[in-house]
Amino acid sequence: MDTVFDAVVVGAGPAGSIAARVLAEKGVKTLVLDKRQEIGAPKRCAEGINVASLKRVGIEPDPAWALRDIRGAILYSPSGRPFKVDLGKTSGYVLERKIFEKHLARDAIRAGARYMVKTLAKGVVLEDGRVCGVSAEFMGEEFTVRSRLVIAADGVDSKIARSAGLDTSNSLSDYHSGFQYEMAGLKLDDPDNLHIFFGADVAPKGYAWIFPKARDVANVGIGILGQLSGPGHRAREYLDRFIANRPEIFSGASPIEINSGGIPVGSAAPCLVADGLMVVGDAAHQVNPIHGGGIALAMNAAKLAAHVGAAALSEGDVSKERLGEYERIWREGDGVKLEKLLKLRAFMEKLDDDDLEKLVDILDSDEVIKLTNGEYGFLVKKFFRKAPKILPLARKFLT
Ligand SMILES: Cc1cc2nc3c(=O)[nH]c(=O)nc-3n(C[C@H](O)[C@H](O)[C@H](O)COP(=O)(O)OP(=O)(O)OC[C@H]3O[C@@H](n4cnc5c(N)ncnc54)[C@H](O)[C@@H]3O)c2cc1C
Repeated sequence: MDTVFDAVVVGAGPAGSIAARVLAEKGVKTLVLDKRQEIGAPKRCAEGINVASLKRVGIEPDPAWALRDIRGAILYSPSGRPFKVDLGKTSGYVLERKIFEKHLARDAIRAGARYMVKTLAKGVVLEDGRVCGVSAEFMGEEFTVRSRLVIAADGVDSKIARSAGLDTSNSLSDYHSGFQYEMAGLKLDDPDNLHIFFGADVAPKGYAWIFPKARDVANVGIGILGQLSGPGHRAREYLDRFIANRPEIFSGASPIEINSGGIPVGSAAPCLVADGLMVVGDAAHQVNPIHGGGIALAMNAAKLAAHVGAAALSEGDVSKERLGEYERIWREGDGVKLEKLLKLRAFMEKLDDDDLEKLVDILDSDEVIKLTNGEYGFLVKKFFRKAPKILPLARKFLT
């Protein structure tokens, strides 16, 4: 095999394959390595994505992987009161991610990228402190690939950036522990909406979800703050109780798949570039801290990184300073929104069940949509009039 490339991308998740496609389209000789033997499997995801974020990276929805049209979400308060966030038309999809990721990889390969699966990247190769390739192993055989640029798109357990000296570690207070069953045989009243459940008994400092993939098939999962997890309080135990307490939905249903995984819900990693290296997606903690969704953010960051990376390669300058253009643009765009959402998460984590019930009384659907976009300027005024108990918390975290 050819062992000299312009760029090596580690990880063929959504971030890696978008980066590879953009690089290849710009004529960059690109190799993608993934340790999985099958791209897309196993999935560690509830598979929800909104329409706008697919458009943002130039992907047209395809019924082969955009399984179910979603019109909005129903949020359930701790006492079970439903709150409908109605977007009126198809606003998102529940994906078949195994097919979606293969689709992204096929597009990158058609654009000229080369892929290797079942290939574990062990670390970057450093020369004079600069990243200049990756050491890897395929079926027990070790080899080194040299490249002027490495993109670390290796997900939440990322080791590649760390092997280059960047700090991408997660603290338990900024880490959600996720557990999920894909289940068939459910009795779903409303399979056109996502269903999201809150409350200290349901999912402390997190939420449980039912994301329909068909009338009677859904991803049923839970994400809770990692530091709260312990015997009797593990994500799986909360999920099993959630299911057992809702026989009207789950009697007659069985799992057809089990997934679990971590979700980095803190700030983006402190530094996203080094000489010859860029970090994107979950590896860089580019995840929405409120709902834990990261596919859209990962793909957008990857697209941006690949544009900057391709330009840097053609100029012959892959220094940290040159690649830093990616970090600057990202922090001024999605980064600003994520920092706002991080404050909202800190505020939400302080609310008790009574406070959450109060929110259902006083907020409307448009306001909840604003909150998910990090717009919460209106909240303090609203709490001043209608929820004085929550006001001090809002002042502390949101102003
Ligand atoms: C339970 C759960 C539910 C979720 N639900 C949603 C949701 O509904 N919507 C949403 O938007 N997001 C969701 N997320 C988050 C979403 O899955 C991630 O944000 C997204 O996958 C990030 O994409 P990525 O390409 O950065 O990383 P990943 O998708 O994790 O891809 C990383 C790739 O790198 C490969 N890799 C890792 N290390 C190496 C190595 N050393 N060598 C070679 N290959 C390597 C892996 O095999 C993998 O293919 C969920 C996460 C969890 C855990």
